[in-house]
Amino acid sequence: MSRRIVGPEIEGLIQLLSKLPGLGPRSARRAVLHLIKNRARLLDPLASAIEDVRRTVTVCSVCGNIDTADPCVICSDPRRDRSLICVVEEVSDLWALERAGATTGLYHVLGGVMSAIEGIGPDELSIDQLIHRCAEPGVKEVILAVNATVDGQTTAYYITERLRGLDVTVTRLAHGVPVGGELDYLDEGTLTAAVKSRRTF
Ligand code: ZN
Repeated sequence: MSRRIVGPEIEGLIQLLSKLPGLGPRSARRAVLHLIKNRARLLDPLASAIEDVRRTVTVCSVCGNIDTADPCVICSDPRRDRSLICVVEEVSDLWALERAGATTGLYHVLGGVMSAIEGIGPDELSIDQLIHRCAEPGVKEVILAVNATVDGQTTAYYITERLRGLDVTVTRLAHGVPVGGELDYLDEGTLTAAVKSRRTF
C-alpha cells in the first residue's frame, strides 16, 4: 500500500492525466503540480478549454475530421481545391498533412485500415462514403496517403479497385514515407515532398 499524499480529487486528476499518450504517473504528477502552482495562467484556462471542447467537439459528416463545426473548417473553406481528395487513415494523419500545408484539397478519414488479423473489413471503414464522394462531379484526383504498412497498402489497393470506372485519377505518396512509418511522425518537409512527388497508383 502506497501512502496517500493528496486527496482523491487531485489523485484522480493525476491518474487521468497519466493515461494520456506520452505521460506516465510521474510526469502527470509533475504536470498537476505545475497546473496548481499556475492557477490563473494555466489551471483555470485549461479547465474551461477542456469544457469548451467537450461541449462542442464533433466529427465532420463529410470527411471524418474532428472539429467543433460540421462540416469542418476545411470542408467549408471555399478556397480549398474541391477536385482533390486526400485519403488518410486517422485524423492525426490529416492534421499532420495540414500542418505541413502539403495539400490544398479536401480530405477523407478512413478511420483505420483493413486488417485480416484484427478482423477489420471495408465495411468497418468509411470507404463507401469515399466512393460516394468521388462519384460527385468535379472530383478529379484521389491521393491515397495511407501508411506504407502491409495493411495500408492492401487498403489502398482495395480502394483503387473500387474507384475503377469512375473518372478520377488515383495517386499515392511517392518517396519519403518509410515502410511501416506513420505519417504523424514525419517532419513537415518530408510530408510536403511526398505529396508533391506523388504518382499514379
Ligand atoms: Zn470535413
